[in-house]
Amino acid sequence: MRYSALQIIKQGLTGNKGWTPAWREPEPKADYDIIIIGAGGHGLATAYYLAKEHGITNVAVLEKGWLGSGNIGRNTTIIRSNYMLPGNEPFYELSMKLWEGLEQDFNYNAMISQRGILNLCHSDPQRDAFARRGNAMLMAGADAVLLDEDGVRKLCPDLDFTNARFPIKGGLWQKRGGTVRHDAVAWGYARGADERGVDIIQNCEVVGMQIDNGVCTGVETTRGKIGAKKVAVCVAGSSSRVMSMAGMRLPIESHVLQAFVSEGLKPTIPGVITFGAGHFYISQSDKGGLVFGGDIDGYNTYAQRGNLPTVEDVCEGGMAIMPHIGRARLLRMWGGVMDMSMDGSPFIDKTDISGLFFNGGWCYGGFKATPASGWCYAHLLATGSPHETATELKLNRFKRGRMIDEKGVGAQPNLH
Ligand SMILES: Cc1cc2nc3c(=O)[nH]c(=O)nc-3n(C[C@H](O)[C@H](O)[C@H](O)COP(=O)(O)OP(=O)(O)OC[C@H]3O[C@@H](n4cnc5c(N)ncnc54)[C@H](O)[C@@H]3O)c2cc1C
Repeated sequence: MRYSALQIIKQGLTGNKGWTPAWREPEPKADYDIIIIGAGGHGLATAYYLAKEHGITNVAVLEKGWLGSGNIGRNTTIIRSNYMLPGNEPFYELSMKLWEGLEQDFNYNAMISQRGILNLCHSDPQRDAFARRGNAMLMAGADAVLLDEDGVRKLCPDLDFTNARFPIKGGLWQKRGGTVRHDAVAWGYARGADERGVDIIQNCEVVGMQIDNGVCTGVETTRGKIGAKKVAVCVAGSSSRVMSMAGMRLPIESHVLQAFVSEGLKPTIPGVITFGAGHFYISQSDKGGLVFGGDIDGYNTYAQRGNLPTVEDVCEGGMAIMPHIGRARLLRMWGGVMDMSMDGSPFIDKTDISGLFFNGGWCYGGFKATPASGWCYAHLLATGSPHETATELKLNRFKRGRMIDEKGVGAQPNLH
């Protein structure tokens, strides 16, 4: 079924009885060409592009819970391509371009809103660093504008310019950045993949890998063994657990990251704003709620809930630039498990086990990467070679001394 304004009118006039389920609930088959583990944003996008771009449809996406129950439905919905390093920026800009055409491509309203992202700077050296980042973005075909204090004032007059402990000196503005309704991305990709023949199998946890003589031949699940020519792991915060089933240890730690939503307020935040003297990012949803977050909790965990000291730390970050939000009441908060890599950058790669592929290490930034991650992982699975924008996202980059350390903080996953 194609979704359109006409379809809404037709269904409205006929009692909304004609809508069909957005995806099927198939039983697992004995074998597939490709099994994708994890029905998060990246797994579903991979399945969609495998079917749509490469014509590979004998594919199953196995999900231990329900579709979209992981970080794809838990993030703060920010998209941007304001990276600096050559290993990252072309990849994230590919993602931004895919976001720009995504709703038409998969015929689903994901509420993509390019309302812009503003990274505030609070010192002269920080402005220099942002100028450098902006130039790197422009060289990679992205958009970037360096704003002075007046420019920031025009965009966001409600910020605290006068009494702040960290005075606002300007900011780096990416107009094409913004927000996207996160769970609609999972639903849109799922529907598009299912419609092309991909089996999305929920409540099917992978509990073991079948590896015969160094070749991955399938998986063991809570619903029995399923064979595959290729197995593509795509489980974000559970990466270390799943890859340990294949005897692999990853340069990844799992940490919890929290997100917060306030009661609905009149418009006060024009786009996405990030604090430059601490870790705090905020946007305002279409319903008026302030959607914000900050640092990970800072200890290793697989729990999808966080603790109060980080809540206080995040709220302090917000109050430092916009004290007026201190009066808003928090409505909801939750946590998600982040796959923090040692250099803060992700992996899309083959492994040393033939037929076993890995996608993970997304840290704070995997939502914005969803379309490019699916695009590049599908390319790797279909062709056997990395996509041109993902050649550096390799598992052996630490061995080769080719880290992609955007923040320049070294091998400290909790700092990226
Ligand atoms: C609070 C928070 C805020 C964030 N904000 C942003 C943001 O603003 N912008 C941004 O770019 N990124 C953000 N992120 C990061 C982003 O959400 C993640 O990097 C990205 O969603 C991870 O990829 P995914 O969608 O495939 O992961 P998930 O949705 O977590 O998908 C992985 C799936 O694998 C399944 N799985 C795990 N183990 C198994 C198994 N054994 N068998 C079968 N299935 C299994 C899980 O149930 C899960 O559904 C945020 C994350 C959090 C938690």
